[in-house]
Amino acid sequence: MHVMWRNWAGNQSMTPAAVEHPASVDEVSRVVKEAAAAGRRVKAIGSGHSFTGIGLTDGVLVQLDRVDQLVSADADTGRVVVQGGLPLWRLNALLAERGLGLTNMGDVDRQTVTGAICTGTHGTGRDSGALATQVLAMELVLADGSLLTCSREENPDVFAAARVSLGALGIVTSVTIQAEGAFLLTADEQPMPLLDVVDDFERHVAENEHFELYWFPHTDLALTKRNNRTSGPAKPLSTARKVVEDEVLSNGFFEATCRIGKAFPAAIPRINRAVSKALSARTYTDAAPQVFTAKRRVRFKEMEYAIPRSELPGVLRELRTLPERHGQRISFPVEVRVAPADDITLSTASGRDTAYVAVHVYKGTDEKPYFDAVEALMGTVGGRPHWGKLHSLAAEQLRERYPRFEEFTALRDRLDPERRFTNAYLDRVLGA
Ligand SMILES: Cc1cc2nc3c(=O)[nH]c(=O)nc-3n(C[C@H](O)[C@H](O)[C@H](O)COP(=O)(O)OP(=O)(O)OC[C@H]3O[C@@H](n4cnc5c(N)ncnc54)[C@H](O)[C@@H]3O)c2cc1C
Repeated sequence: MHVMWRNWAGNQSMTPAAVEHPASVDEVSRVVKEAAAAGRRVKAIGSGHSFTGIGLTDGVLVQLDRVDQLVSADADTGRVVVQGGLPLWRLNALLAERGLGLTNMGDVDRQTVTGAICTGTHGTGRDSGALATQVLAMELVLADGSLLTCSREENPDVFAAARVSLGALGIVTSVTIQAEGAFLLTADEQPMPLLDVVDDFERHVAENEHFELYWFPHTDLALTKRNNRTSGPAKPLSTARKVVEDEVLSNGFFEATCRIGKAFPAAIPRINRAVSKALSARTYTDAAPQVFTAKRRVRFKEMEYAIPRSELPGVLRELRTLPERHGQRISFPVEVRVAPADDITLSTASGRDTAYVAVHVYKGTDEKPYFDAVEALMGTVGGRPHWGKLHSLAAEQLRERYPRFEEFTALRDRLDPERRFTNAYLDRVLGA
C-alpha cells in the first residue's frame, strides 16, 4: 500500500513501501522480522509533530494506533504504564480521571508519549526536565524482533540512551512513567521590557517552578509566564476571555497577522509592536495540563537550541539585534525556556543546566536565512539542536557538543548493527 504521509508542519513527506498497524507487541515483533527478511528498513511514527525528517522511511512505516492503551496506573505510587502509541492528550485525560498528572510537559499535547520522549520534548522547569526524565522503564522491540526491557536496574546502559533514542534503537512498545497527584498551577503572565528580564533571568528562574518568556522580534517587549503550584481554589479564565486571548490573539488573529506579514514583510515590525502592546497581564489558576498546554492552529516551522543556561543573557542580547542586522522581518515570537541538567545520553540537557531558545517562521516562509544566522549564534556557545526541530548539524559537530555521543553510537552499533531503524536524518546526525 502506498500512502503519502506529511508531518504537522507540512515540510516533510514520505511514501513508505508499506504501512503497518500492529495490534500487539507480538505483531510489532513480527513486522520487524518480516521487514528484516525483506531487506527493508522500519520506522515507527508518532503524531508527525517533528519538523525534521527524523520519522521518515522508504521502508515499512509502523503506526502504533492499535497499541495505544493505558496499561496500569497506581494512584498511590504514581507509577503509570502506557503503550507506545498513546497520545499525550489522552494520557492526561486518563490520569486526571485517576487523580494523577504529569510533573511537567511541553506546549502542546498532540504528540504520542513515545514520539515526545524519543526527541527529548520538554516544557520549562526549574526542577523538572523533559518528559523523558519522568520515565522509569521502557520496553523495546529490537532489530532482531526480540523484546528488551530497561530501567535503572535492568539494562541501565540501554535505559540511559533509550529515553531520548531518536527512534534509532528499536520500537518502543511500552513506557513506565512516574506521574504524581494531580495539581493546580497559577499562571501569572506579564509583559515586561526584554532587557529587564534578561538582566534578572536567573532570579526569575529561581523564584518560579516554570518560567518562560516570549520575545517579539523588532520590539523591546517580552511576555513573561510564571507557572507555580497552588493549593487552589481553581480560577480558570472565563471562556470569553480564553476565546478572545488564546483563539483571537494566538490563533485566528495571529494567523491573519502572519499572512499580512508574509505578503508585506515591511509591515512586520509595526505588527509586532501592536501585537506585543495588545497583550495584557493576566492571572488564572487551573489544572496543570490546561496551564502547560495550548492549542496551536497557526502552522509554522521551528528551530530550537539548548544552550548552557549561564550563556542565555549574552545570547539574547545578540539575538535581539540579529533580525535588523540581517535585514530580516520576523513575525513569530522567540520562546525561551529552561530545564535542569539530566543524565540521559543524548538529551539536549544532558549534563548541563539548560536554557532553550526557539525561533519560528510562518508556514510557506523561507526559514533558511534566519535559522542559519540563529544557528551560527548558538554554535558559539556549544548549542545543541532539538532532535525534532530544524537544524543543519551532522555527526561531526554533534560529537563535539555531546560528551557521551560515542556511548550512544556504540550502543546503536550493538543493538542495530544492520541499521534496520535508520533513515537519512539519523545517518546524518548519528553517522551511517
Ligand atoms: C505545534 C508543536 C508544538 C511543539 N511543542 C513542543 C514543546 O513544547 N517542546 C518540545 O520539546 N517540542 C515541541 N514540539 C516538537 C515535538 O514535541 C517533537 O518533535 C515530538 O517528537 C513529536 O512527537 P510525535 O508523537 O509527533 O512524534 P513523531 O514526530 O511522529 O516522531 C518523532 C520520533 O519518534 C520516533 N517514534 C515515535 N514513536 C516511536 C515508537 N513507538 N518507537 C520508537 N520510535 C518512535 C519516530 O520514529 C521519530 O524518530 C512541538 C511540535 C509542534 C508541531
